[in-house]
Amino acid sequence: MKVYKFGGASVKDADGIRNLASIVSEEKENLVVVVSAFGKTTNALEKVLRAWMAGDAACNTLLEDVYLYHREVINELFENSGGVIERTEVLFSRLREYLISGKKGGYDFEYDQVVSFGELWSTSIVAEYLKREFGSVGWIDIRGNLLTDDRYRDANILWYESSLRINNIIDFGKNRIYVTQGFIGGNVAGYTTTLGREGSDYTAAIMANILGAEKVVVWKDVPGILNADPKWLPDAVKLDEISYTEAVEMTFSGAKIIHPKTIKPLHNRNIPLHVRSFLVPSDPGTIIKADAELKTGMPVYIKKEEQMLISISPKDFSFAMGDNLSRVFYFFKIHGIRVNLVDASAVKINVCVDDERPKVDALINDLKAEFSAVYNEKTEMLSVRHYTLEAIERITARREILLEQRSRSTVRFVVRQQ
Ligand code: ASP
Ligand code: MG
Repeated sequence: MKVYKFGGASVKDADGIRNLASIVSEEKENLVVVVSAFGKTTNALEKVLRAWMAGDAACNTLLEDVYLYHREVINELFENSGGVIERTEVLFSRLREYLISGKKGGYDFEYDQVVSFGELWSTSIVAEYLKREFGSVGWIDIRGNLLTDDRYRDANILWYESSLRINNIIDFGKNRIYVTQGFIGGNVAGYTTTLGREGSDYTAAIMANILGAEKVVVWKDVPGILNADPKWLPDAVKLDEISYTEAVEMTFSGAKIIHPKTIKPLHNRNIPLHVRSFLVPSDPGTIIKADAELKTGMPVYIKKEEQMLISISPKDFSFAMGDNLSRVFYFFKIHGIRVNLVDASAVKINVCVDDERPKVDALINDLKAEFSAVYNEKTEMLSVRHYTLEAIERITARREILLEQRSRSTVRFVVRQQ
């Protein structure tokens, strides 16, 4: 069996869903289709949530806009939309009722309860369309099957429990094709959780790992994985194949090709991931696999924007390493802040993190109680894998470099934003 993943851009309108169906029709093997919310629905639901949390009645009109958008897709997609409209109506009412019933928890909790509806709506419409095209198609509510802990907005998978349930619910003897939601899961208490923005790739990898898939295909609006973001370096070229290691390093450094957590579950079962274009499905795309070879002499450029460089020193001029090191990173852990780069000298530790305020402000506050902590904001982290002098010159020319770090395979620069 295979797992196909379609992101929001591929299902932003009726044509997108017809295209999805045509891609699915080419696949003769058993298939799990993981689908994101339509187009920019997740962003729209984030707005609904913020308005609702602020007690702003605008949340109702914002939600109605999202509803009308889904209705339009249905109207254009189905000749006979009876049944689909009713089901979608019920799913929208669930969210309306939830909003009326009032807040039950903090921001992260409510985020997951509200924003997760995008995937429930999209998958129920896509499943219905595929059902009419191909006959038997199963729709799975992943919330009762992909079990997670209750770290809302960044939930961890409970692998053993999820594996039991997913293997139990998916029966290719009953349906050759299953459609389910990316990005969302559920905890043991029965509440919805999410896996982090753009988490549908991760869902596809989890399903593949649990079901022992032969392959995962992520259908995107780009021809594959390039050696740089073409908006940054317009002469970027496509890579035919890259290794799991290369993919993990690239995503960790900030390449927005796939969700960074996607690779591990695939690597662990040696399942290749194929990135292909839904616009030109005949294109070969890029394959991520164990024994891939990168074109020699091809640097890979990655830019991570909106970074903060925090410099931490013990107040009494004691060494930064040793006991201080674990104490410093304890604070990053309890604030849930991911570290993108560490650089340490005798009396100073420099750490580069995403500019996620107010979270980072709270971290710095805590650090300041025990250390001296200062920061540079409006910075970027530029990485080059398989670098050459020419490649370095190309991206650092006329940039103010705040920090540089070099290993045999990778060079990183923290530079001031332009
Ligand atoms: N719909 C979610 C998002 O936009 C998940 C995803 O697209 O992967 O972040
Ligand atoms: Mg999306």
